[in-house]
Amino acid sequence: MVRVAVDTPLRRTFDYLAGEAEPQPGVRVRIPFGRRQLIGVVLELAASSDLPREKLKRVQDIIDPAPVFDAELLALLRWAADYYHHPIGEVLFAALPKLAREGAPARALRERWVATADGAAAHRAGALRRAPRQRVVLAALIGHGGLDAEALAALGAGARDAAHALVKRGWAATHEARDTCGADAALGTARPSPFHLTPEQEAAVDAIEAGQGCFGAFLLHGITGSGKTEVYLRLVERVLARGERALVLVPEIGLTPQLVGRFAARFAVPMATLHSALTGTTRLAAWRDALSGHARIVLGTRSAVFAPLAGLGLIVIDEEHDASFKQHEGGFRYSARDVAVMRAQRAGVPIVLGSATPSLESLHNAQQDRYVRLMLPRRTGVALPPRLALVDLRAEAMRNGLSTFVVETMRRHLDERGQVLVYLNRRGYAPTLACTACGWIAGCDSCDARLTVHARAARLKCHHCGADAALPARCPKCGYEVRAVGQGTERVEETLAALFPDTGLARLDRDVVRRDEELTAVLARVASGEARILVGTQMVTKGHDFPDVTLAVVLNADHGLFSTDFRAAERLAQTIVQVAGRAGRGARPGQVLIQTEYPEHPLLTSLLARGYEGFAETALAERRDAGWPPFGRLAAVRASARSLQDAIQFLGDVRRMMAAPRAIRLLGPAPAVMARRADRYHAQLLVESTERAALHRYLDAWLPMAENLPSARRVRWALDVDPLELF
Ligand code: ADP
Ligand code: ZN
Repeated sequence: MVRVAVDTPLRRTFDYLAGEAEPQPGVRVRIPFGRRQLIGVVLELAASSDLPREKLKRVQDIIDPAPVFDAELLALLRWAADYYHHPIGEVLFAALPKLAREGAPARALRERWVATADGAAAHRAGALRRAPRQRVVLAALIGHGGLDAEALAALGAGARDAAHALVKRGWAATHEARDTCGADAALGTARPSPFHLTPEQEAAVDAIEAGQGCFGAFLLHGITGSGKTEVYLRLVERVLARGERALVLVPEIGLTPQLVGRFAARFAVPMATLHSALTGTTRLAAWRDALSGHARIVLGTRSAVFAPLAGLGLIVIDEEHDASFKQHEGGFRYSARDVAVMRAQRAGVPIVLGSATPSLESLHNAQQDRYVRLMLPRRTGVALPPRLALVDLRAEAMRNGLSTFVVETMRRHLDERGQVLVYLNRRGYAPTLACTACGWIAGCDSCDARLTVHARAARLKCHHCGADAALPARCPKCGYEVRAVGQGTERVEETLAALFPDTGLARLDRDVVRRDEELTAVLARVASGEARILVGTQMVTKGHDFPDVTLAVVLNADHGLFSTDFRAAERLAQTIVQVAGRAGRGARPGQVLIQTEYPEHPLLTSLLARGYEGFAETALAERRDAGWPPFGRLAAVRASARSLQDAIQFLGDVRRMMAAPRAIRLLGPAPAVMARRADRYHAQLLVESTERAALHRYLDAWLPMAENLPSARRVRWALDVDPLELF
């Protein structure tokens, strides 16, 4: 008898009878489910069932000869299902690529060529004297006990034709074979590193290596350009030399071809890259490479934390503070960073969390001695830290969002052959289209939001629901002229092109860059110096290393200063420091200008006077006073419905349904700041506690009741444990 999990929101498993050969836990099976046939994953073997034996159905088909989740990964996923209070079936299926969920074989077919007995005899008899190429191929087939297609091709041009000729003679045969685990483990070696480590880098590598073979969490806090990536590379080198495998997680936007290139340039080993932009078959192939053990390094974004990996030796999380590690939509909401720490702990391997701007959670963990903090306080080489200054927007003449002072400073840097980076957190041309006569403003019909002007495409777009309309030339209400108000990256690009007509300009945001190749092309224009001004959104703040950038400008810091979300300040500080980190990476010192209307704001002044450390200290003290994470534990119950009343009603019922014990504080229900999105109304209820265990006991108790509430039928709702964004 086996206990099977299926991809449904039901919080339970299902028992099935199996034949003689019971499928092992972690194996996919086909099962009858109601009137359908479903794919399920065997969770465990069972000696008995709550159902009488004659009521149990049989497993129809065992898909995998060997588990696709080993015991360790299965245990991790069960922990995640518990911790995030999510049905185990959906958790397991979230860990599989789509095609694997649909039953695609877990092992790829590989073309294999072997010599036949006749071929071996002919070879011994010294045949093929006049067909040297066939002779070489036959010898190789015999010598290696067969070759797969890649190895055959490596014998040189014409080897494949020669192999076909051998098949015709009956001296060779070809067939398709499944990958065998680790059989192709031709261990590549690392290329020598181009430089000696700095003493700080060496200390970091040594500290992490000293803990090799057991769990340890290391917070690698190094300013941008201090050589964190080099530390990862050295650690991975040691891991590979021991025959173990490394899992490297990067933010959604951080998996640039540059980073993959750096790993590929250093290590001549098979690598699997896993990210959401991959097509179905490529993703399946990468997952298979991880599962079979072919891949020595798995490099991926959020969901790669669930990649199958035998012989794991190290986990690295780059830019650990990045919000894209948190899945905050859909059913199963998890933090890949937190799951990774748990995975490392269960596997008994070190985990490195790297960042120039660690999350307050991780800094707190380091203060509590749960993580070991390793510092890289200096940039490698000659680069000095950049100088930061605030530009008071109230005192400056402005042109389309650019102050005179910023424009003059840009001109000076460009004249001195520097490059300039301009950051703005808003894409499009302008965030508002307004009538100059009657005050009409273009709003979204489905959201509580304004439509963004996209001038070049001549469209009005909603950035929340995707609504898209033609850009009107006149006010639809009074027929008078309309005007674009405010700045987006497209408009800043236009303004800069007018101000600096002879300077190459590049823009980086989701409107101009949709695919990897486009990103590579833009970055190449900046790297070559052809583009000397780079304007963009969040995308410009991540990971790129341009030695000639000497000035970085934050066009508007104020969005993060007065938010209802208690994490907004942390995010703003991180962005400013990350943008600043792009300036002055080469021999020339960098300068950073931050435009604001609130130059006396304590967040900005503490950040400028005492750096990220100083900011973090202030911010952590505030969190402690307010009882927010990391000092308190938080879960959000989120609901949306066709009417705000339905959403609030459900959350109100949830709140009334179960009296909260003393350790629990309930906040809400309250409508989201932007209540209406895509014609649905959103609201939330926060559950807060200083004790993690109490919070989870509470959630365990009320979840089944909430699911059965009559008002639940009119809403879509989800539980978000450790939410990153509050709205
Ligand atoms: P980070 O990941 O912290 O931003 P990187 O690892 O990318 O830093 O290093 C920044 C630059 O310094 C890279 O060009 C890298 O090749 C170089 N670098 C790293 N370590 C050293 C070192 N020990 N000596 C000289 N250059 C180094
Ligand atoms: Zn909308």
